[in-house]
Amino acid sequence: MRTRAAIIREPGKPWEVTELSLDEPRQGEVRIAFKASGLCHSDEHIQTGDSTGRLPMVGGHEGAGVIEAVGAGVTRVKAGDHVVCSFIPACGTCRYCSTGRQNLCDWGAQMMTGMLADGTFRFHDDGGADLGGFCMLGTFAERAVVSQNSCVPIDPYIPFEVAALTGCGVPTGWGTSVYAAGVRPGQTVVIFGAGGVGSNAIQGARYAGAAHVIVVDPVEFKRSKALEFGATHAYASAAEAQEAVVEMTWGQLADHAIITIGVLSAEVVDQAAAIVGKGSQVTVTSVGKSAEKQIQLAANGSVVGWQRRIQGHVFGMCNPLYDIPRLLRLYQSGQLKLDELITRRYRLDEVNQGYQDLDDGKIIRGVIVHEP
Ligand SMILES: [Zn+2]
Ligand SMILES: [Zn+2]
Repeated sequence: MRTRAAIIREPGKPWEVTELSLDEPRQGEVRIAFKASGLCHSDEHIQTGDSTGRLPMVGGHEGAGVIEAVGAGVTRVKAGDHVVCSFIPACGTCRYCSTGRQNLCDWGAQMMTGMLADGTFRFHDDGGADLGGFCMLGTFAERAVVSQNSCVPIDPYIPFEVAALTGCGVPTGWGTSVYAAGVRPGQTVVIFGAGGVGSNAIQGARYAGAAHVIVVDPVEFKRSKALEFGATHAYASAAEAQEAVVEMTWGQLADHAIITIGVLSAEVVDQAAAIVGKGSQVTVTSVGKSAEKQIQLAANGSVVGWQRRIQGHVFGMCNPLYDIPRLLRLYQSGQLKLDELITRRYRLDEVNQGYQDLDDGKIIRGVIVHEP
């Protein structure tokens, strides 16, 4: 079978939309027709070379679609099912899945290669090269063969464009506040970066009962959207937020700082550490350049003396099989804004324009809508 897909051959080059051949699903695998895919920053990290993956690679790791065919031994889904693909697979039986930490599933080891369980690839170009899909998915392809472990069945009446976002950005952001930070009622939370992930961290913090949800983002459009998602205050700079937090908390400083900016930097980690008080936590969601060190804090005073924690996490510590359906139910009952996250829709051919708009701060989330 043939499929169109947006791929990266070399870091620093634009996305190339091309046609690939696609193998049939093997043991434990399914063929999915992707209907929608979110434009997440992590794909751009591969495109720029900030993160290093096995190239060439099919981009996209935030998608929803319909199962078209299943290989031998598939029990989780059947042809015709609507699914969200979780960017972390959940096998259900490894050490981490079996202890309620599906976000750390051992199958995540192949995220940067896209290699499937038998050590081979299902995408091939006409020059004979094998391609993996990012996060073992490749949602920038119209069709892909993925492990059933990546699939989370959903109700068929949920729009694909909304469902797609629950494969990465929504659980990552919402879970950052609710699980990784563990925001409690009445707390003060400062969120650095109000994009596709930060907007959901705002919603999670409000849902968990935070009294103050303070956003720091230099882009005016994102600050105004942040207030719609439930932020109580929004500032353009860390210095302005610092001053406000001192006042708001009577000098106690914030309980949580959450970092959901596009590219993690040492400067923002320092700003986050400075805005939280004693016994507090800095939760780091963003990734930075693989070659740099972003977290360098003085133990005296800064960490030990003030008993503060720095917490990293994957996927907001969510369990995909439990949390994706749960988040969609919160959406259906009007307690989670998902339609509002989508600023613009793109055709697959417009993927480079989508990332340009993301870099220009024009969109919260862009979504590729695949043609039938
Ligand atoms: Zn993502
Ligand atoms: Zn597992």
